Amino acid sequence: MIRKKLLNFKLNLPFFVSDAELERFRDSAVPFRERCPHCGTRGKCRFFAVYGRSIVDIMDGRPCCRTMIVARVRCDCGHTHALLPDFIVPYRQYTLPFILHILKLYFSRSMTVQALCGSFWISPPTLYEWKHAFAMHRSWWPAFVRSGHKGFLDTLVLLLSSPVFSDFTSGFWRQTLFSFLQTHANPANCCRLPPGW
Ligand SMILES: [Zn+2]
Repeated sequence: MIRKKLLNFKLNLPFFVSDAELERFRDSAVPFRERCPHCGTRGKCRFFAVYGRSIVDIMDGRPCCRTMIVARVRCDCGHTHALLPDFIVPYRQYTLPFILHILKLYFSRSMTVQALCGSFWISPPTLYEWKHAFAMHRSWWPAFVRSGHKGFLDTLVLLLSSPVFSDFTSGFWRQTLFSFLQTHANPANCCRLPPGW
């Protein structure tokens, strides 16, 4: 996959990805400008296909299901890659801002687990999986460790204070080879960064 920065601002929760943003992202896809994550070559990717991807985010305080169009490119080396904006967590249907909003409510104890899950259409195991992923990736990110913030909520507030949220998402990906809160990886196309990245 090829990650694209779209959260180029301070992320205020809850955050809704507007249709205009989705269209802007779709129209901004220029395959030949991309660097292939497998072989590291730039300028060899060509448009290959599109597919519809279901996403869940929050509109007017309620979950909202939609379908976004994702482009897939093919490099001359034979590998194909999806162009994914950084508000998407690979292999998850819920958007990154959605998950962070739920975790913020959970960590601040604003709602009970039962009320939280009922209001936002998630199961308790899913909520605890997100919490586990957050705890794991928190320990991977040196800025969190250095800051001395001990609580999950403190860490989340620190994260959301970033003036350009994409700086964090792209930095995390470069350092860990995982997107933030991603827990599954396909070793065929995201096990390493391009040479010279
Ligand atoms: Zn390639």
